[in-house]
Formats: sequence, C-alpha cells, structure tokens
Amino acid sequence: MTTPSDMFLSPERATVSLRVDGVRLWRSLMDLARIGATPKGGVRRLALTDLDGQGRDLVVGWLRETGARIEIDGAGNIFATRRGRDDVAAVVLTGSHIDTQPSGGKFDGNYGVLAGLEVLRTLNDAGIVTERPVGVAIWTNEEGSRFVPVMGGSGAFAGVYTLEHLLQQRDIDGVAFGDALRRIGYAGRTPVGKRALDAYFEAHIEQGPILEREDKIVGVVTGALGLSWYDCIWTGQDAHAGPTPMEARRDALRGASQMVEAVHALAMRHAPDGRATVGFMQVSPNSRNVVPGLVKMSVDMRHPDDGHLAKMDRELRDATAAIARDLRLECDLQQVDHFPASRFDSSCVDAVRAATRTLGLPHREMVSGAGHDAIYIARVAPTSMIFVPCKDGISHNEIEDARPEHLEAGANVLLHAILTRALGSRVASDSSGTDGG
Ligand SMILES: [Zn+2]
Repeated sequence: MTTPSDMFLSPERATVSLRVDGVRLWRSLMDLARIGATPKGGVRRLALTDLDGQGRDLVVGWLRETGARIEIDGAGNIFATRRGRDDVAAVVLTGSHIDTQPSGGKFDGNYGVLAGLEVLRTLNDAGIVTERPVGVAIWTNEEGSRFVPVMGGSGAFAGVYTLEHLLQQRDIDGVAFGDALRRIGYAGRTPVGKRALDAYFEAHIEQGPILEREDKIVGVVTGALGLSWYDCIWTGQDAHAGPTPMEARRDALRGASQMVEAVHALAMRHAPDGRATVGFMQVSPNSRNVVPGLVKMSVDMRHPDDGHLAKMDRELRDATAAIARDLRLECDLQQVDHFPASRFDSSCVDAVRAATRTLGLPHREMVSGAGHDAIYIARVAPTSMIFVPCKDGISHNEIEDARPEHLEAGANVLLHAILTRALGSRVASDSSGTDGG
C-alpha cells in the first residue's frame, strides 16, 4: 500500500511496492466477455458490429470513470489519456484491441486493453502523479476477420495505410468500413496518427505454448518474426482419370503435394525459429475422375532474422522450380506480402525485463510469432510487449483460457514498465538500482 507519507518519498520509492488489483482486472475481463459471449465459452465480437459498439461503450465508460480524457480518431481508434504533471509531454501509451475472431476467446486483445485500464485505476487509487501522461489505446479491427487489412487501426496510426484506404474496405456483405464505423458511433474527429508517444507497451496472451511448457509467467518480447506470404499456382493439364496413362499425365496436384512436403522440410532445416505453412489449397476442377490441371495454394513463411528469411525464400523458389521441372508443370510463385522481422526498442525491452525481475517473476525472452498492433506502433514509437501464458497455447478459439494470477502478474509488469517511462527521466536512469529480483 502507498501511504500519504510515501508521497514525500522519491517517486521510485513511492511506487516500488505498487500492485494492480488482480480480482478487479479479472472481473472486468469477464464483464466484457459477456458481450458477444458464445455457448462454448468464447466471444464473437467482430470489428464494427453492434456488439463491438457495445464493447467499446462499456470499456470507454470505465476509462472515462478513471478521469481520463477520451479521444476518438477517424479510424475509430480510441485513446484515453490520464494527465501527467507535464501534460504536453509525449504519452506513455499501452493498449490492444477488443474485436475478436468469429469464434474467438475472452483474452486475445481484451487483456491488453483491460490491463491498461487496471494500470490507470491503480495509479488513481494510490494517488500517483506521473511526470508524463499515461494513455490506453483501443485499436480498431486488429483481427482483420471482417475487414482487411488486419491491424488496420494501428496500421493507419503508423502511416502504413491511409484513412481513405481503410474507410473504403468492404466486408463480404458489401458494407463499407467507414459506414460501419459511423453506424456504431465511433467515427471520431481526431486526426489519425500525429500523436507524440514516449513509448508503447502491449500486454498480450502468448498465443503459443512456450511459456506454459517452460513454466514461465512472463515473456519479455524482444521483437517479432519476419513474415513472407506467397500465392502459388500450379498448372498442368486436365485429363480423364481412366484412359490417360500415368506417364502421360501433367498432374498439378502432384506438384502442389510435393511442395507441401518441401515447405515443411524447408522450415525444419531452419529450426527452431523457422516456420513455414501451407494453409490454403484449391484444386481444379476438383472432380473424382479428372487429373487436376490447376492448383492454387498459399505459403506462409516466418523467421526472426531477415537474412534467414531471405534464404528460406531462395530455397522455396529452388524447390518449386525443381518440382515443376520434374513433373513437367508450370509454377507461378508470387510473393504477395512481406513484413521484415522487427526488433523492439532496447530501452522498452529493458523496462519490461527490469519490471519482471523486480517482481521476481520467472520469465524468458521471446519473439512474437503472431501479428500485433505493437508491430505497427514500433514503426513510430519505442515499443515492446509483455506475454503471459495461455492454456495449451491455444488462441483464436472459444476454448482460449488464461489463469487469473498470470494475467495479474503481466499487468504488474505492465504497470512498472509504464512507471519506468512515465515517472520521469531521473527515475528511468535509476531503474537498474531497483532491479533486485
Ligand atoms: Zn490480439
């Protein structure tokens, strides 16, 4: 507890024992999860639907109750800002998203936003005045399941997409992003981007099995995997399955099948960090008695090191060319998207690591395998992330689950990482002195 007399201590001594209220955080998570709750215990709250509007209303109400100033930008991103002593200083921002996958869980995204809310509540309860303002962001349409692009709100904030591009996107029913945003009342007037950030921290469930498997509570996230997406079209010749002799066939599905194995082998050669996946395939004409003449497929490749990813790219092209030669097929392989590997800001990673040690929490360093708003924000502000375990590493699924004590621990790391930046430069430079865990 912080007593009134602590206020006369140096800021770091007054706040070192500060902790979030884990019960209150859990209650907020469960209250929000009721909006769009599914019978199997998950959440379906797609971006810019009525349910998303209700979720936003609930969380904005909570943020407003903390006394934070609420602003909404043209992309529907929401910013809640708690005053600092120097109120024009660059903001120490945290946040995530509250839209979900069609059969999503209670924690993906929601945790990062509500952990930020819990930080504001905790600072208020203890009467802490930070030097810099502390903010919580709710980014629009992170999941990308109703509208592309994925991470659209944070991407627009970082200047990756123009607002016009975002507003024109349509869902499968032809509804425009801009119209959906207006309909739920979240087409704000604040300009997109153009906000001075001192730092951005995002807490998130890991969405993978590593922390749980190693019995760690906190992932100190140092960056994110580089990512390359490909479309690949195999062309052979449709032929009758009966009369066509085996040696005369140009079977596009054989090419695609060999490529699935080649893609797997390629990632295994770059273990443990390489990832390669074929997740989509369309066989044409897809008929029982026709040798397939055309197959469309996708490849997703990831690696934390851009040099390795470039090597995987060459190996993919070589393997594809060899298969095509062998089977007398044509193969058109196109890279359709690419994110370079991102390395988070070392001072922000240090802040997370120091907070984790101060709190005495078992932790490991890791890179994010999934996309997050933080990856775009890292392009415009010093950024890092905090991961906590989720049950069996499962996410984007109604059975997604996490333990209250882990969520509380991650929120405490978030609180102290934020304080490292927000209390002022003197404290930030002294922070190694409190690193006693
Ligand atoms: Zn997420």
